[in-house]
Amino acid sequence: MKGAPLMSVEAAIASLLAMAQEHCLQDSESVALSDARQRVLASDLVATLDLPLWPNSAMDGYALNLGDWQGEPLAVSQQIFAGVAPQALLPGTCARIFTGAPLPEGANCIEMQENVEVLQGGRVRFMQPLRVGQNIRPRGQENKAGEVLLNAGKRLGPFELAIAAAQGCTHVSVVRRPRVALLSTGNELVEPGAPLRPGGIYNSNRTLLSHWLSELGCEVIDGGILPDEPQLTRLKLEQLPPATDLILTTGGVSAGDADYLGQVLRECGKPLFWKLSIKPGKPLTVGYFGNVPVIGLPGNPTSALVTFGLLARAYLLRIQGVEDVTPLSFAVSVGFDWPKAGNRREFLRARLEQGQAVLYPNQSSGVLLGASWADGLVEIPEGCTLRSGDTARFIPFCDLF
Ligand code: AMP
Ligand code: MG
Repeated sequence: MKGAPLMSVEAAIASLLAMAQEHCLQDSESVALSDARQRVLASDLVATLDLPLWPNSAMDGYALNLGDWQGEPLAVSQQIFAGVAPQALLPGTCARIFTGAPLPEGANCIEMQENVEVLQGGRVRFMQPLRVGQNIRPRGQENKAGEVLLNAGKRLGPFELAIAAAQGCTHVSVVRRPRVALLSTGNELVEPGAPLRPGGIYNSNRTLLSHWLSELGCEVIDGGILPDEPQLTRLKLEQLPPATDLILTTGGVSAGDADYLGQVLRECGKPLFWKLSIKPGKPLTVGYFGNVPVIGLPGNPTSALVTFGLLARAYLLRIQGVEDVTPLSFAVSVGFDWPKAGNRREFLRARLEQGQAVLYPNQSSGVLLGASWADGLVEIPEGCTLRSGDTARFIPFCDLF
């Protein structure tokens, strides 16, 4: 395989999304709003209520009817607080009204309290010109009953869940969680808590990815650590629950002897692609074990992070029905020189300082600290050089979760 052309990042994403299209999850479940964060709507959320349900006041002030008013001070005939049902406005009077309180029938204008003078005896003088409808939130201003508020395929965050709550929903219908078997490969790996033997390192990828998978709405099946040995790898994969939607591994995908995952996929499934034009993360491996989709991420923590964020994330969102899986990105000015063009697409950990992308000093794919220091990834296309002040695409981490 040495010297084989590398697959472009775009082609790999397109290929993964085509694969995802064949594995879209069909089942849905009803989930309480408190548990529905980061889940994906299975069907459109349709309004059952006009919002607001009655015209109400946007201000603390006074409600009056401009139709029968000549500009004279008005007596206050009632006080209307939020949460009460008001009387119809007595002709020739105004009503004291507070923010969120229903507008009394007959009133068509609300003046804020700062613009009135309360006279001796309690009458109210209006000091500014008034117009019909001012400071009134009309019924249905936000939405009408029957309107689609959120489309199927929408990921639910605090805003969307609050929109459902405003309709009185306690539950929403969401796509079932993808079941992802997460396995770490490497003879050197030791789980935190166990003593570190000579040559051993603690497994950090499992923690990184199990949290990230949960953020993406997945149920994580912990497949533990795989040894660097194809027969045992194969055995371990055969023992996974049959309902696994995706096998996600790290490590064991580098070139040559260490490509255990690729070997197992060649024997017991179908490798689809291997080796991307990406840095870090070149040895990403995608295929099937039996009928189960497999994404094999490289073992270096930053390589795993970059390839998960740019590729596996898109796959996992798409099988849940999310249409737009492209992470947010924008152009930034770079605060560094990039004199030597690379032959792979590079994703550098960078922080935004005064609108300029500044690099973490150590871009080694084994260094995880840079990811925490950084705000996101600067993308440097193949064959590209940059001078400080040039622009490049920036992908903020916050949108990848
Ligand atoms: P590999 O892709 O298996 O060749 O691993 C590349 C590098 O990443 C090696 O230095 C491994 O020790 C390291 N590595 C692999 N898996 C993990 C893991 N789960 N946690 C931390 N480092 C890892
Ligand atoms: Mg390894």
